[in-house]
Amino acid sequence: MANPSLQDIKGIGPKMLEQFLELRISSIEDLFYYFPNRYDHYEMKPLHELQHEEKVTIVGQVILEPVLQFYQKKKSRLVVSIKVDGAVVKGVLFNRAFAKKHFVVGETVTVSGKWDQHRLQITIDQYKKGTMDEQSPISPIYPLKGNLKNAQIVKVMSNALEQSIQEIDELLPEEFLANYRLPDRQTALRTIHFPENFKLLKHAKRRFIYEELLIFQLKMQLLRKKHKESTLGNAKTIDRDKVEQFIHTLPFPLTNAQTRSLKEILHDLKSPYRMNRLLQGDVGSGKTAIAIISLYATITAGKQVAFMVPTEILAEQHEQSLIDFLPKDVNIERLTGSIKGKKRKEIQAKLSNGACDVIIGTHALIQDDIQFHDLGYVIIDEQHRFGVNQRNALKDKGLLTDILFMTATPIPRTLSITAFGDMDVSKIDEMPKGRLPVETYWVKHNMLNRVLSFIYNEVKKGAQAYVVCPLIEESDKLDIQNALDLYVQLKEILDQKASVGLMHGRLSNEEKEQVMNDFTHNRIQILVSTTVVEVGVNVPNATVMMIHDADRFGLSQLHQLRGRVGRGHKQSYCILVADPKGDTGKERMRIMTETTDGFELAEKDLELRGPGDIFGVKQSGVPEFRLADLVHDYRALETARNDATDIVQNKRWNEPDFQPLKSYVQSHFTLESDLLN
Ligand code: ADP
Ligand code: MG
Repeated sequence: MANPSLQDIKGIGPKMLEQFLELRISSIEDLFYYFPNRYDHYEMKPLHELQHEEKVTIVGQVILEPVLQFYQKKKSRLVVSIKVDGAVVKGVLFNRAFAKKHFVVGETVTVSGKWDQHRLQITIDQYKKGTMDEQSPISPIYPLKGNLKNAQIVKVMSNALEQSIQEIDELLPEEFLANYRLPDRQTALRTIHFPENFKLLKHAKRRFIYEELLIFQLKMQLLRKKHKESTLGNAKTIDRDKVEQFIHTLPFPLTNAQTRSLKEILHDLKSPYRMNRLLQGDVGSGKTAIAIISLYATITAGKQVAFMVPTEILAEQHEQSLIDFLPKDVNIERLTGSIKGKKRKEIQAKLSNGACDVIIGTHALIQDDIQFHDLGYVIIDEQHRFGVNQRNALKDKGLLTDILFMTATPIPRTLSITAFGDMDVSKIDEMPKGRLPVETYWVKHNMLNRVLSFIYNEVKKGAQAYVVCPLIEESDKLDIQNALDLYVQLKEILDQKASVGLMHGRLSNEEKEQVMNDFTHNRIQILVSTTVVEVGVNVPNATVMMIHDADRFGLSQLHQLRGRVGRGHKQSYCILVADPKGDTGKERMRIMTETTDGFELAEKDLELRGPGDIFGVKQSGVPEFRLADLVHDYRALETARNDATDIVQNKRWNEPDFQPLKSYVQSHFTLESDLLN
């Protein structure tokens, strides 16, 4: 049969076809790639080898008429007595009164469910008459939607494999299959649906994990190539002498890591290809300093620069740094959502006539009424806080400028090559000299008073402190209540001897600004806050970061908060107040006290909480894979990345063995055809 379609498979009628469409299954290939999400395995063991609380399967004889009890209104409990190995096991089914007729005294049944070793009881979730089917000991369980039943899919899948598996051509080059000892596509498909044993299943999965990672990485590498080749012509003529002089005016020598990153960025700025670069570095590692030097370099080339930050507070702080560092003849403006009317018009005019060299602001910068005279460079700070939408808005504005994304969230390697696989990465993995590492302590809530008096002592010595409470939910009153309680408690303890400030999400922007200003200028010594201080603020005189209910934060977030202190010359402290319940929570607190390496923490965070929590799932741009798991499969991910780079850079597309992969990529991604040459 040439080009068989879904309808041709036995057992698929119009109704099922419709349901398949909802599951995005519209071809036989789609159907084959609808993988089980788990397998039931009926493995028989003698009763005494069964593990308490495990899912088990038992075969035995029904010895008594089942007993059916009703309770509350519509709930029922069916109890069956089954003789197994000379013992009597009690089987219980909840709310399945109709099952009674299936348990006939004297007949053999196979039941599976959760085992209670102490009561010799099984909570049955599946049952069938007769003994186990020896033919297919590992049975696929598919993710289901609508009215589809697992048994239907199993049947249809089995028919499809029989009728059409030979239509499925190999996708991967022979060379890769041999190198990595992967099963061919047809064998792997058969196995993933109906595995003969777990070992073969593992190999089949390995193949599909590699396949999906390779395809994903090919897409990334092609995008990267596209960025580079489609945006020729923005080479900047940077005034090297001026930039050198400027670097000499800085009050510190650059670290080696800063110098290296700067060199990479300047190289991109000078090159005719568009920069699409991620600058990663722990809080306080000196990213902003590098951003400022590179933006100054762009200005010496006669181009404008936009510096985007996620909050108004940060916009102000960065504006101040720009004013402090940059030569006086550079025109700096700030534009945020709260700047309106005449002032906004003025700034708009300066941007469009070129009088403004560098504009710093929030996403107000990408609104429609903003036009630049000659924008050459966009810097985006803490980029993961900008949704994908905003990043796209930049592109939609036709801003084919050089772009630098900065992030202080150390991104685990695996994530950075998936979410940011289309970008170049510079990493500042070294702290400026002379920084004292922050000492971190974990205490229980019953120590709170001692912590507060410790804070008071630091304040007496002239230092400042942050007290942070978790934001439980944006709309939740609780977060403010927590912050408020601590605020009141501190005020009592301090009794006018120091000033305490309160900051939370529901203050107006002016109020927030006021509080932040007071803290920056030491008019407030202790700032009690919900997590609004998380991002980027710089108050070197602050030496204590106390985090209340610290177990509610992810490791990366805690690390960010900790980065608010330790910015000056004095010893700083981070105090985690938490009574975590589970082992993971305790483990996380312990890790925090043991390392100040952001990258190490990020890897741990990924292991403990999964990728979604690091970025916020929807915004992350981290793709969801069918089978691959970024924590466990990172070696496969790296292999796939190397192979994809090799294919794209060395134009291996043209080799005969790579044709199936090439046509797959052509039909599944919208790409200019010449990218594949
Ligand atoms: P980040 O943006 O990575 O958090 P910043 O660029 O704000 O870091 O730097 C943090 C602090 O360290 C700032 O006060 C900055 O002036 C200072 N700093 C930056 N680079 C160096 C350096 N090479 N040596 C000493 N101090 C530095
Ligand atoms: Mg360039």
